[in-house]
Amino acid sequence: MKQRVLELVWINAVFLTMSLSTCAHSQLGLRSKWKLAYFDSSALYSASSNAMPIVKAKTPDTTDGKWGAIFVFRTDEFWLNLHHFLYVLGRAENKERDTSREAVASAPGDQERGFEKLSAKEQTIWRGAVSSYAAGPSKKDLVFDDPLPALTDALARADDLRSLTGSKVDPGIAAILQRAAPLYRKAWWKKHREANRNWQKAIQSLVDRHGATVLAFVTNAYMLQWPATGFPVHVSAYSNWAGAYSTTGDLLVVSSQSPGLQATYGLETVFHEGMHQWDGQVSEALREQARKVNKVAPRGLSHALICFTAGEAVRRVVPGHVPYAEEFGVWQRGLGPMKVALEEFWKPYLDGHGTRDEAFAKLIKRTAIDPAQK
Ligand SMILES: [Zn+2]
Repeated sequence: MKQRVLELVWINAVFLTMSLSTCAHSQLGLRSKWKLAYFDSSALYSASSNAMPIVKAKTPDTTDGKWGAIFVFRTDEFWLNLHHFLYVLGRAENKERDTSREAVASAPGDQERGFEKLSAKEQTIWRGAVSSYAAGPSKKDLVFDDPLPALTDALARADDLRSLTGSKVDPGIAAILQRAAPLYRKAWWKKHREANRNWQKAIQSLVDRHGATVLAFVTNAYMLQWPATGFPVHVSAYSNWAGAYSTTGDLLVVSSQSPGLQATYGLETVFHEGMHQWDGQVSEALREQARKVNKVAPRGLSHALICFTAGEAVRRVVPGHVPYAEEFGVWQRGLGPMKVALEEFWKPYLDGHGTRDEAFAKLIKRTAIDPAQK
């Protein structure tokens, strides 16, 4: 009976994991569509259909002065910032449940303060742009729903150009953004860009100090490679409800204003989001282990692995750092059983015992579910 109760608790946790955010940073790993899209299009690795591509991890050469190779922060992307501000305001207008989350809750107040710099007519034009977003892009998810990842990528490429003419941005969206652009420049951009630059300065100094060690830890643990030129990190005053996300095409977006993503949490977050770009391969490796025992890997496991590993990596270089998932209650949101398994099987591996696939096999044995219960 006790066993059955435990099983039910576990199954419940798995379903919770599948339907809710498993990690405050990002929602990757929860929808197979994205994972397949990334797995198919990944150019970083030579993926095989049957086995996890194992690439020997390479510790970056930190003596050549190319520290920026781990992350390349982009702080002045005007169009990307405007897009995300309109996106979260549109969601607030739609009264979406996630608008109360810490990373986006301040956006309506921010809008009100900016209105002091705008005439009544300008405010009306701005509100029109927010309503257009509310009726369109804000109804979609930035991570999973097309065409948003491609749109965000095109806007990042437009950088701080005066116009979107000639860009790959959808003409309808471009028209909304171009109408709002002079108002954004007048009322908010300077402050948002300043926040981006300050955040970048603080996080870059942590990356300079600890980045190579953290990178070596996570790449050696996963036995996967980081891109040689690093991941671009698009710094934005707002991103999504989680404060940061990682999506197809090596697209990492982090909010500079989110209270939960400052200092060492910013450092943990950029590594966490970069590690999400391995989701396709890690999920396949876990599925492979699950197939061996005729089970199904729980979807949240690869995500829980990232929460655990990134948090542990930063804790080991910054004593006193409490990993994000512990500090912000991520494990309490349906991932508790996975944390227990990670402590038992993954932590010893991180401490140097056994191989990665042995650890994966043990994790799967403990957490995998019966195909009939999928
Ligand atoms: Zn995450």
